[in-house]
Amino acid sequence: MRIGIVGSGPAGLTAAISLKRKYPDSEVTIFEYMPKLGKKLLASGNGKGNVSNTNMSVEYYNTPLVKDIIKMDVVGFLNSCGILTKIDREGRIYPYNEQAATVVECLNLELYELGIKVVKEKVVGLGTNYLTTFFDSYAFDKIIIASGGKSQEFLGSDGSMYRAIEGLGHTITNLKPALCPIKTKEDFSDIQGLRCKVSARAYNGDEYYEDKGELLFKEDGISGIIVFQISSIFARSTMGSITFDFFPDMSEDELTNIIKSLKQDRYIDVALMGIINRKLLNHILGDTRGKFLKEFDASNLAYKLKNYKIECSKNYEFVQSQITVGGVSLIEVKESLESRIVPNYYFIGEVLDVDGLSGGYNIHFAIASALWVAKNI
Ligand SMILES: Cc1cc2nc3c(=O)[nH]c(=O)nc-3n(C[C@H](O)[C@H](O)[C@H](O)COP(=O)(O)OP(=O)(O)OC[C@H]3O[C@@H](n4cnc5c(N)ncnc54)[C@H](O)[C@@H]3O)c2cc1C
Repeated sequence: MRIGIVGSGPAGLTAAISLKRKYPDSEVTIFEYMPKLGKKLLASGNGKGNVSNTNMSVEYYNTPLVKDIIKMDVVGFLNSCGILTKIDREGRIYPYNEQAATVVECLNLELYELGIKVVKEKVVGLGTNYLTTFFDSYAFDKIIIASGGKSQEFLGSDGSMYRAIEGLGHTITNLKPALCPIKTKEDFSDIQGLRCKVSARAYNGDEYYEDKGELLFKEDGISGIIVFQISSIFARSTMGSITFDFFPDMSEDELTNIIKSLKQDRYIDVALMGIINRKLLNHILGDTRGKFLKEFDASNLAYKLKNYKIECSKNYEFVQSQITVGGVSLIEVKESLESRIVPNYYFIGEVLDVDGLSGGYNIHFAIASALWVAKNI
């Protein structure tokens, strides 16, 4: 059997290794146009490679259709390639030495030892049982598309395959950047770079999302893991607003009492500087110069600090996003992830209209979907 795989991300590498192990006599070829394999995987998790999560369920994905796929033994596969993993306090799974480079190197070694062929060419066209590059045409019995999305194209996935996939007759659903900062209507240049621990409630009329974490102010927007998660929800529906609580560990009454206990004859930002950053306070309250704490109603102040609403305007661009929402329509693939339109074509990883939240869910899906396809071929 001749198997052609487009893309050397976690999905393509896993598919190649699993299929060659299953069918040792098969001829497996990976097509990758970047000089190095697995470039995005290398950059993942700030170079640490958050490859999966112990809290695994469909609620972390955009669709329940992945229910059985995500049960595939991703950690077991990594272990079989000599990659030991460890779990952090939040359940995120990393390679034991916290280096994504190790994952890429171990998978590369497996490719080499199994005799998997790598063709360093860009795939530009797809036919019934063949694919074409700028230089040649290659025939296969099975073709697996693992070309990723179009986020951070300098890491390889430049969205170039979408047109070729459409050429096969497939629909690509609306593509949007996600897991990225969000632009806001409000200007934050006065507190740009400031970080704080918050809880956030996002609402856009349909969906509601609540989480705790770090918020980072940017000149024209907001960032941080909680903002990344919300960007995915907004990308799938419409933009909305986020309400931040700068004192997530105490009730409004407790905060009111703390404010009342502070020295009332001090300027407000000085009086509160032991509990909240002065610049942030001045941004939230507007110009408070010359005003004393006693001039403010403590409960009203507590309410403002626990319910700061920010209107969002749009997600940042693909180049700043970790994933692409949208992709090959799931209606057009069978449960096995084989195309319903062109037999012997399979789609795995981010190229599909599947996305997960931040926390290892996207690499997990890339590997799990490859294992799933290898099981089904
Ligand atoms: C900075 C960053 C950090 C991230 N961190 C994490 C994390 O910690 N945990 C997590 O779960 N997810 C993370 N993600 C998301 C995750 O990396 C991706 O969802 C995952 O890599 C998708 O895997 P894939 O194999 O489907 O596609 P990719 O990893 O995108 O691989 C696709 C490959 O196909 C190649 N290709 C594309 N078109 C062609 C063509 N026409 N011809 C030949 N080759 C082609 C590309 O060059 C690329 O190498 C991160 C993303 C980014 C950008």
